[in-house]
Amino acid sequence: MQLDPGRLAQSDSYENATAAANHKTPSRLVNDIIDHTGLEPEAKAFYTDNRLRSERFMQLEQDRREYVDQHPGKLVIFTCIDEKEQDTEKAFGLVPGVANVYPTAGNKIGEVNLVLCQEIQKRIDRAVQSDKVVLLLFITHESASHPEDDGCAAWEHDSREADKHAIYQVKAFNRDYVDRDCYGNVAKRHMVAIRLKSITDKETRIWFGSNGQVDPDEFLSRNGSMGDGPQLFSAIYQRFAECFPEDDPCFSGLGRDRRTALLRQMALMFKANLGYAREVAKGEIPRTESGHRGTRILVGRGWEMYDEVGRYFKVSDLTPDYKRECQISGKYVLKNALIRQIAEKDSGLVVPFHVNVPFDLMRCGDRCGSIRHAMNLARAIKKDWIKRLHRTETRERLYAELRQALEHDGIPHAFHPDFSAITPEVFNFYVSVSPRETRLLELVATGGDL
Ligand SMILES: [Zn+2]
Repeated sequence: MQLDPGRLAQSDSYENATAAANHKTPSRLVNDIIDHTGLEPEAKAFYTDNRLRSERFMQLEQDRREYVDQHPGKLVIFTCIDEKEQDTEKAFGLVPGVANVYPTAGNKIGEVNLVLCQEIQKRIDRAVQSDKVVLLLFITHESASHPEDDGCAAWEHDSREADKHAIYQVKAFNRDYVDRDCYGNVAKRHMVAIRLKSITDKETRIWFGSNGQVDPDEFLSRNGSMGDGPQLFSAIYQRFAECFPEDDPCFSGLGRDRRTALLRQMALMFKANLGYAREVAKGEIPRTESGHRGTRILVGRGWEMYDEVGRYFKVSDLTPDYKRECQISGKYVLKNALIRQIAEKDSGLVVPFHVNVPFDLMRCGDRCGSIRHAMNLARAIKKDWIKRLHRTETRERLYAELRQALEHDGIPHAFHPDFSAITPEVFNFYVSVSPRETRLLELVATGGDL
């Protein structure tokens, strides 16, 4: 798709933009909302579908308010960019948008990450204002059936290393976000950080306390003998109280009532996860397949409604490593596009990156700063791919990784296509901003060449 920066939409509303831009141009770069007429069918379907997701997001506003009112913990979730993990909120029964989710490859957030520190401080300030505490879930992932090759790619499937890192980070969160008295004792706690492990092929999430772990398998193996009612909930709550005892360091500086209320919030998420895992086991919810099946990369923020497994990688704009994360996810999407091309000869080779950030990122009511930020992200990712494909060394490494990924998916070497078709034009960018209330993507630029 080529860019035609000469055509500007002279409209300021979504409907007007559609009416004004029936000029049938293949793609355009504009500083305002553009319509979807020039998009290729799959991208068009993506944005048509976005309207439905946006409507659903708005319908859930009351549910979001109720959740926040009823629970003491303001949720912050750290999880992987992996497309197997994008149902995390759904698996916990959370309304989309109640949790702030930060996807990073393998949760490798670094020793000190100033951007994320600022983000967390912002969440804490807001929690303090409403007499809440930040409940941070730090989730790494692995596979029960394929531990050697379907764990976290960012950790090269070495779950022990991922665990060590997660234990370190969670301890640091619980140590750092407290007020201490003159003796160094915790006087007030602003954050409770918990380590969890997601077992992707079972759709279960294991919670780790200082006195053991709460594993959904323990309850699932009882075959629903307790039903779904109060008996089940009280058994879950009891397990949480055992694993997270009163002297658990993650609760120091919190009152007893607050601990009880937080345990209840956690137990409710756990219970929802049991129901979710049962539905997956019964085949009512699609099971996560092994390997990487993602076909699109969602960069930035505002993607809460995209919660299917196996379809979307999500890359945050808040991690300094976002380019590397776009390399990892881009490689797998490329691999899937190549497989599709082998199966359907006439399908084009496209790796779609959708970049979106909130409408008013820089200043209240101002879209320009947000658009600039989103465009800069897209350009940086694009430039990185151009550089990688241009340099012999990085290009050969990409080819070698693709060969390995294709073989892992059962495509023998003899069927591998000619990789020289992978040019920078294969990477397609869709840049948008979205209002926080609607999460409706307002497309501002498209095209391979930004
Ligand atoms: Zn991962």
